[in-house]
Amino acid sequence: MSQQLMGWDDTIVALATPPGIGAIGVIRVSGKKAIEVVNALFPSKDLQQQPSHTLHVGLLKTGATVLDEVVISLFKNPRSYTGEDVIEISSHGSPFVQEKIIQAIVTRGVRLAKPGEFTQRAFLNGKLDLAQAEAVADLIASNTEASRKAALHNMRGGFSSDLSELREQLIRFSAMIELELDFSQEDVEFADRSQLNDLIGNLTIAVQKLLHSFQLGNVIRNGVQVAIIGKPNAGKSTLLNTLLNENRAIVSDIAGTTRDTVEEVLNIDGILFRLIDTAGIREHTHDVIESIGVEKSLEKMRAADIVLYLFDVNNTTVAELEAIVQQFKQEAIPYLLVGNKADVNVQASSAFTAFPDAIYISAKENHGVEALKKSLIARTISGDIHTEATIVTNARHYEALQKLATALNDVQQGLDTHVPGDLLALDIRQCLHYLGTITGQITNEDQLDFIFSKFCIGK
Ligand code: GDP
Repeated sequence: MSQQLMGWDDTIVALATPPGIGAIGVIRVSGKKAIEVVNALFPSKDLQQQPSHTLHVGLLKTGATVLDEVVISLFKNPRSYTGEDVIEISSHGSPFVQEKIIQAIVTRGVRLAKPGEFTQRAFLNGKLDLAQAEAVADLIASNTEASRKAALHNMRGGFSSDLSELREQLIRFSAMIELELDFSQEDVEFADRSQLNDLIGNLTIAVQKLLHSFQLGNVIRNGVQVAIIGKPNAGKSTLLNTLLNENRAIVSDIAGTTRDTVEEVLNIDGILFRLIDTAGIREHTHDVIESIGVEKSLEKMRAADIVLYLFDVNNTTVAELEAIVQQFKQEAIPYLLVGNKADVNVQASSAFTAFPDAIYISAKENHGVEALKKSLIARTISGDIHTEATIVTNARHYEALQKLATALNDVQQGLDTHVPGDLLALDIRQCLHYLGTITGQITNEDQLDFIFSKFCIGK
């Protein structure tokens, strides 16, 4: 990909802080003309003469007009986020002032940056690989401890180093095969087949491990959809309030995701549990027992990763519960059976005797709710979210890894059926291709534009 093609010869500018009034606002400029252009607005010092990684206080002026008193951070290429000359102007946080400054810069031949363009340049200049660049967006969007940790690990190259290890092993394999091809006339096998077998076996295990981590990665990134259902008066809204009082998550909309329903979100141990149709719970409209089996309830349950079925321990027959459990099993819907109002004479209830493994709580008295939360976590994720191992959180990476697994399987089959070396070499090249699409060694412009367009402006 040529530099010209990407049009990154020009200089770009954007507000890097959120629009609106704030204590300060940061305007970021990156490119060949960054220092020259800002220098022309900053009469008190010659920025061109200043060393990299320095701060400069002074007035920003166009002609005789003072725009603002600012602090300028200077980063000279290649030691900057984008790898180009970068200037960050910390101005006073007035949208009007910021607009004036950006205008003054744009009039001097600098272009407004597209979303994610700074990070895109960092990628194109080799500062980050694609998987790392994508993790930058994830880090910005992270809203729990678990998502922050996974994104940071990947941004700092955790995933990338796993991949480069896989790549090295594949290249070693391919070198052995290629060597053999050079001597193909002589009908000899240099590459020890059992060694190749081991290598492919190890690679497959590593890829499967990464694929497996996506289940957790997906939970970390997108949360878990929970439907709380049960008869009227079972205590659903009481439970909802008890849970929300302690665990209400602060979530902002992530770019690219639109939700058409209002949802409540719980943060339990770093995982977001998204409660489906909480309005329905509060309105007491549906969720009657009869409606289980009715399409609407089923739809809601199928949309959920887990259904929390709440029943009043003193007002539910064993037959009712058995019917419900059977329905869940038939539909293969993951569920948690939760007996509520266990503060009232729970031992005497027949449900308690018949379903000793259900979770018994008092939503009103806040008893057993901790155990319920633990069960929610245990039922929805397998594995430890607090390890340092790489967790694949990105669907694009997951897809590429799936293709890689298939290609590895082709290689394995080739080995098993003793196909000629040149065919093995072809399959290996496929494997390397899929790996390359994750880290960005193999990309096309449309794909890059798509990935970076999901970033915010100024990043
Ligand atoms: P919903 O219709 O399922 O949303 O049920 P509500 O949350 O409105 O609760 C129905 C009634 O049960 C209310 O009077 C609650 O105060 C009461 N209730 C809820 N949870 C408990 C509990 O744990 N123990 C007792 N004793 N009463 C409860």
